[in-house]
Amino acid sequence: MLKEVQLFLLPDQVNDEVLIKNKLQKKLRLSTSKFFYKWKKRSIDARQKNIKINATFWVASNSKDIPSLVGFMPKKIDAKKSIIIIGMGPAGIFAALRALELGIKPIIYERGKDVRSRRRDLAKINKEGIVNPESNYCFGEGGAGTYSDGKLYTRSKKRGDVQRILELFVHFGADEDILVNAHPHIGTNKLPKIIQAMRECIIENGGEVHFDSKLIDISHVNGEISEIVINQKKIPCKSLILATGHSARDIFYLLDNKGISLESKPFALGVRVEHPQSLIDKIQYHGRLNDKFLPPASYSLVCQINGKGVFSFCMCPGGIIAPCATDKEEVVTNGWSPSKRDNPYSNSGIVISVLPSDCKGNIEDPFIGLNFQKSIENKSWILGGKNQCVPAQRLKDFMEDKLSLDFPVTSYQPGLKSVRMDDVFPEFVTNSLRKAFLAFDKKMKGYITNDAVLHAPESRTSSPIKIPRDREFLHHPDLKGLYPCAEGAGYAGGIVSAAIDGIKVMDAVLLN
Ligand SMILES: Cc1cc2nc3c(=O)[nH]c(=O)nc-3n(C[C@H](O)[C@H](O)[C@H](O)COP(=O)(O)OP(=O)(O)OC[C@H]3O[C@@H](n4cnc5c(N)ncnc54)[C@H](O)[C@@H]3O)c2cc1C
Repeated sequence: MLKEVQLFLLPDQVNDEVLIKNKLQKKLRLSTSKFFYKWKKRSIDARQKNIKINATFWVASNSKDIPSLVGFMPKKIDAKKSIIIIGMGPAGIFAALRALELGIKPIIYERGKDVRSRRRDLAKINKEGIVNPESNYCFGEGGAGTYSDGKLYTRSKKRGDVQRILELFVHFGADEDILVNAHPHIGTNKLPKIIQAMRECIIENGGEVHFDSKLIDISHVNGEISEIVINQKKIPCKSLILATGHSARDIFYLLDNKGISLESKPFALGVRVEHPQSLIDKIQYHGRLNDKFLPPASYSLVCQINGKGVFSFCMCPGGIIAPCATDKEEVVTNGWSPSKRDNPYSNSGIVISVLPSDCKGNIEDPFIGLNFQKSIENKSWILGGKNQCVPAQRLKDFMEDKLSLDFPVTSYQPGLKSVRMDDVFPEFVTNSLRKAFLAFDKKMKGYITNDAVLHAPESRTSSPIKIPRDREFLHHPDLKGLYPCAEGAGYAGGIVSAAIDGIKVMDAVLLN
């Protein structure tokens, strides 16, 4: 017998196993306490003052009936079959793991360094404002997700098997809680070890991983890929999974130069706002502060302004704002948090949808959105003082169009420069942001406060360019053997959906 049972618990009851077992026995009207149970799902319902935990359990009379994890089962590699994967972000890694499950040898080329060596370059950005264009918050082993909050929530359930991705994360060392929590996250302190375990598994099972190895050229003959150049080395190649992420602008330029078609696509851009975490807890938990049974509160906000979506993006409770530029003359923000989310700050992107038609230039130009994104990042770098200091304005001052005279302590390490957001962004962005903040303040009373600071820009939410691919076979329509994959190609947004796309593309390679 396996049953799914739902209970409503109070936050302080979540770890009380005796109480939970009693409640399950009562609910199922069981005469015996000899049964087994396991958490299936858990979510917090904080809509009312009386905060509840929605809990779902598996209950069975035999422990063998309780679903257990499906591990990772690689096949013996067929020496004649291999696949080249460019980029070792979530998409590249999960494509490689899938290749091993299919008995195909994955060969990964990654421009950045391994997770450990990468840390030194992150310290340089934070402490000295020096950006290494090959190794930074976006480039290197594990990709852009390695030093992130590690949120694993995705709305794109239709895209594939989310549970399988979560189970693989657990197999490689993530806490089993990620299978249960409605909004799972791993944390920056834990992700690098998991990524390292995945790499070791790829190598142990016959795959290859090459760091400091950048794709710089692609040759093709008669509509088929023939050769690639990694650093200066020519490598024959028939099939290539291109999983280089949305920050690899040189890849877009390379494809364009080679006559391989690209398309512009909508993306989103705005600011990263930081509040004291205690304020967000107070608002979301109805004044309840420092409740040890509740996690640091998060939020998800969305509204429509003049027919355009304005929404919170990648909210990090207890987080830190990070300098995420990938080139020297730009400033880009994003956020991360450790597994405990125990920093005193909360940050979130607040972004507005940008259509190619919102940007200046030729609407037919696939680079129209990218040029706009780049211009904002470069302007922010100039206004910030040509280092990694970020243009900043208190939220209240932004609403009143006043330059900020000072700032509270914020988490952004390289430093803040007082700048009007209206000097960073065009009017259509700042107008929409102001209206959206008013709407958000109605949903979360106290959101507009002098203690909140806007950091600009939040510009790498999704790719402004799409690399087209055949719907069925997933290769580029101009070039057989070139498989555009995940976020950089416009088919994913976030760690889980990128991982799902990596698996999907690898499956397509096998079929073609
Ligand atoms: C600070 C931060 C926090 C984030 N937080 C979250 C979060 O909590 N949850 C979430 O879901 N998402 C988060 N994201 C977004 C998430 O990281 C991305 O959506 C995801 O990593 C995209 O995966 P990908 O594999 O498509 O590309 P990427 O992760 O961008 O990986 C691409 C890889 O390709 C490599 N590469 C690029 N060009 C070349 C080349 N020419 N040759 C060889 N290699 C190349 C890069 O070095 C990189 O390692 C965050 C991002 C950042 C920067």
